[in-house]
Amino acid sequence: MEKEIATLSRTKQILEKYSFSFKKSLGQNFIVEPNILHRMIERAGVTEETGVIEIGPGIGALTEQLAKNAKKVIAFEVDGRLLPILEENLAPYSNIEIIYQDVLKANLHEIIEKKLNNCREVMVVANLPYYITTPIIMKLLENRLPLKAIVVMLQKEVAERMTAKPSTKDYGSLSIAVQYYTEAKTVMSVPKTVFIPQPNVDSSVIRLDLRPEPLIHVKNEAFFFQVVKASFAQRRKTLLNNLLNNLPNGKANKNIIEECLTSAGIDGKRRGESLTIEEFALLSDRLYEIFK
Ligand code: SAM
Repeated sequence: MEKEIATLSRTKQILEKYSFSFKKSLGQNFIVEPNILHRMIERAGVTEETGVIEIGPGIGALTEQLAKNAKKVIAFEVDGRLLPILEENLAPYSNIEIIYQDVLKANLHEIIEKKLNNCREVMVVANLPYYITTPIIMKLLENRLPLKAIVVMLQKEVAERMTAKPSTKDYGSLSIAVQYYTEAKTVMSVPKTVFIPQPNVDSSVIRLDLRPEPLIHVKNEAFFFQVVKASFAQRRKTLLNNLLNNLPNGKANKNIIEECLTSAGIDGKRRGESLTIEEFALLSDRLYEIFK
């Protein structure tokens, strides 16, 4: 029996056979430690009833492990040079389909509806290309896809920002967006030594369980996120100053913004990073009445 693709010896053999050269610009760092992938799939809870979307299969290290555990795997790969490699090495598995497309341009609703409709649940499980971690996660969340969970490997620093609590240095608009749509937790630490080529940063695996409804109800979602972004625009400035400087026509509406803060019971001298998601909701609902 052939060794798993994720072993160092098999990976080296494949890379040599195809004279593959890594593209740093595509975030190509491949895992060469099967146990990391076994643990990741176990933390995801993938079963033979699960349909999985993978983003960036590379030479198929994680794809192979997913195929052994899941009902069906749909993987998006942007680098066409990987096509012959994936075709050859994943040939033993009949439940994998690779789509050679930029995942950011893909219609994931359609893919789930057409190709994973016979699965009991759908999850995203991936070792993400790190240069587009946040756009990928935001696309998965904002598109309101019918996903049970997103279990992904990403830079440790980004995982810390996604799971951060108020009044910590990592807390920001990304923490709020992730919390709004999901329950997030870090489920594994991954040292940089298990990749080739070795990246400069350590990694984590994060598990995002999608909420059936957002954590809080707001009058206008787009405006809520606008208020959140404005509040964090300059972290060392007070909440009031950030709102004045970063909301459209903020300065012209100074009195109104001050009134909204007072009626929401929030001191404008606080920093944005001290507000809970519930406080942001209250504030944005008050401001929305004026700014809409
Ligand atoms: N899954 C493999 C592993 O764990 O060893 C490789 C992961 S590597 C960190 C990221 C992969 O994402 C690469 O294969 C890269 O070509 C691919 N990729 C980069 N940008 C992409 C995009 N926009 N859409 C789909 N795949 C992309």
